Amino acid sequence: MVVKSEDGRELRSFNFKEEDQSQEVRAVERRVLLETLASKLPKDTLRFSSKLASIEPTPNGDSLLHLMDGSNLLAKIVIGCDGIRSPIAKWMGFSDPNYSGHSAFRGLGYYPSGQPYPPKVTYVYGRGLRAGFVPVSPTKVYWFICFNSPSPSPTPTTTTNPSLLKQQAKQLISHWPTDLASIVDRSPDETVSRTPLVDRWLWPAVSPGPSRGRVVVVGDAWHPMTPNLGQGACCALEDSVVLAKKLAAAIKGGGGGGGDVEGAFRGYGRERWGRVFPLTARASVVGSVLQWENPLVCYVRNNVVIPKLVRLGPLLEHTNFSCDTL
Ligand SMILES: Cc1cc2nc3c(=O)[nH]c(=O)nc-3n(C[C@H](O)[C@H](O)[C@H](O)COP(=O)(O)OP(=O)(O)OC[C@H]3O[C@@H](n4cnc5c(N)ncnc54)[C@H](O)[C@@H]3O)c2cc1C
Repeated sequence: MVVKSEDGRELRSFNFKEEDQSQEVRAVERRVLLETLASKLPKDTLRFSSKLASIEPTPNGDSLLHLMDGSNLLAKIVIGCDGIRSPIAKWMGFSDPNYSGHSAFRGLGYYPSGQPYPPKVTYVYGRGLRAGFVPVSPTKVYWFICFNSPSPSPTPTTTTNPSLLKQQAKQLISHWPTDLASIVDRSPDETVSRTPLVDRWLWPAVSPGPSRGRVVVVGDAWHPMTPNLGQGACCALEDSVVLAKKLAAAIKGGGGGGGDVEGAFRGYGRERWGRVFPLTARASVVGSVLQWENPLVCYVRNNVVIPKLVRLGPLLEHTNFSCDTL
């Protein structure tokens, strides 16, 4: 992992093998992760293009799912993993996620004859602006640029025009060395997006729990967090393992009657809250510090804190979490 300043100067290089072998960073393309998970499911388990419009409880505790195409599904158990705008979370009483004041451009640079970068993450810390890139395959390089923006929404033109998005992303880093801009240039339009960074703080006794009856939410649908610790998707995966274990135990112990699914969901909520709430708060604080614009603060961060004070172990300590195997 390498950290640079916006003028291209290397502030710090972390060597995981030498400094802390318990740590690592793995970059996985979302498509590959999803296809890998999907390939483990029995054939015909997945039904695509089924956008949920609303959910309605039935008197016996099942749920009627109304889909956008007008069809309905009757479900004994619903696991809502439908992201930050989850209609299921809304139905459960969760507030909309809060905008952090920062947004991010993202994309995947494509190099059909092979990408030229070593297998490490490069971060660039500027003033109110930071970016990073990392190879995710022999031909693809993921990149992001995170910037301060009072408004979460891009103008209507930018939402529909990916080449304009690329132009805006490059404009932000026009005074930086050109390596990142060239990765942006190599990103096919469909990979480029602008996303407002949001989170939801799950205050005890204020926020609803993640389950209601036999309906439960996981991942961003429950605990959207800003990506400053790189833990949102990791936590969604951890949620899935914990939930699957609790659900399997309830169903196995249920004597054929389905078991205490509601109790399993409540147990999942108790176990996961202690992990996801502190991470959400910490990610928010880290994001605010990294997006500082004050030149003196940025100077101290880049010339004292990063080169001299930061240690790999404490820096990535939040990733040390085991949810055991399934
Ligand atoms: C800039 C940025 C960088 C990030 N970097 C990292 C990182 O380095 N590491 C990390 O761990 N996390 C990172 N994250 C966070 C990560 O992307 C999310 O936490 C993760 O995608 C959450 O997974 P999820 O399955 O809960 O939700 P999503 O990935 O949002 O998936 C939700 C799914 O639900 C579907 N859906 C939505 N609405 C409906 C509906 N009405 N009906 C049916 N389906 C619906 C969507 O189509 C989608 O398939 C980053 C996020 C951002 C914005």
